[in-house]
Amino acid sequence: MNQAEAAATDGRSKGTIRVVQLYPRDMNIYGDWGNALVLQRRIQWHGYTPELLEYNVGDPFPEDVDIIVGGGGQDSGQLVIQDDLQARAGQLKDLAEDGAPMLVICGLYQLFGRFFKTRTGAVIPGIGILDVETHGTDERLIGNVKVSTQEFGEVLGYENHSGQTTLGTGVRPLGTVPKGTGNNSNDGHEGARYRNIVASYLHGSLLPKNPAIADFLIRTAAERKFGSFSPGNPDDTYALLAREHAGRRPR
Ligand code: GLN
Repeated sequence: MNQAEAAATDGRSKGTIRVVQLYPRDMNIYGDWGNALVLQRRIQWHGYTPELLEYNVGDPFPEDVDIIVGGGGQDSGQLVIQDDLQARAGQLKDLAEDGAPMLVICGLYQLFGRFFKTRTGAVIPGIGILDVETHGTDERLIGNVKVSTQEFGEVLGYENHSGQTTLGTGVRPLGTVPKGTGNNSNDGHEGARYRNIVASYLHGSLLPKNPAIADFLIRTAAERKFGSFSPGNPDDTYALLAREHAGRRPR
């Protein structure tokens, strides 16, 4: 056990931070589960105790949620979860409006918006937390992406989606896209920001290569729950290596 793990388990923990991964059974492609694992480890490194829970269709919704993460999925996975997600819309909206930090990737980013009209014309209603809408196209946007953001510096990841998302005035983009496509093939924007929600098309998974976003989620959760955040000493060796490697890869 390393020092941070010891700090988080020997009674000197700064407190418990509960992370809930939404629908990992149906919405977890391109390693999105890795986002939850990074949060778990970095929460320990910051001296808190992580609790990692899965929420799947039909489960009782966990109480005292501190961070929500949700991954991407095929259109078919989005169809499977749509009714359950609607049933949870109220709880998720309340958490979002109350400032709970959330990370939603690709398929769940789309369904946190107003709707996703798929390539085949099926309309999957979203839960409208984000003022965005998504239309399926015959063009598949695939490849490595670099996003310039003010909050998190350069964000790196991988996209693969046929849905193209347009932002309304109620959200702001996560950033602009010097490499790759992002939300759609027209406006050069990627992702969306609203309250403490980070929404993005980037898989990879995202957080191992972008620890600044992981730490934003953890800091926000700690401040919301305990009134303050005291950082620890996370080990960024592998994050830096992964960024270097991703930055070198051709599209
Ligand atoms: N099914 C959606 C699309 O193709 C989301 C894909 C994903 O999550 N990678 O647009």
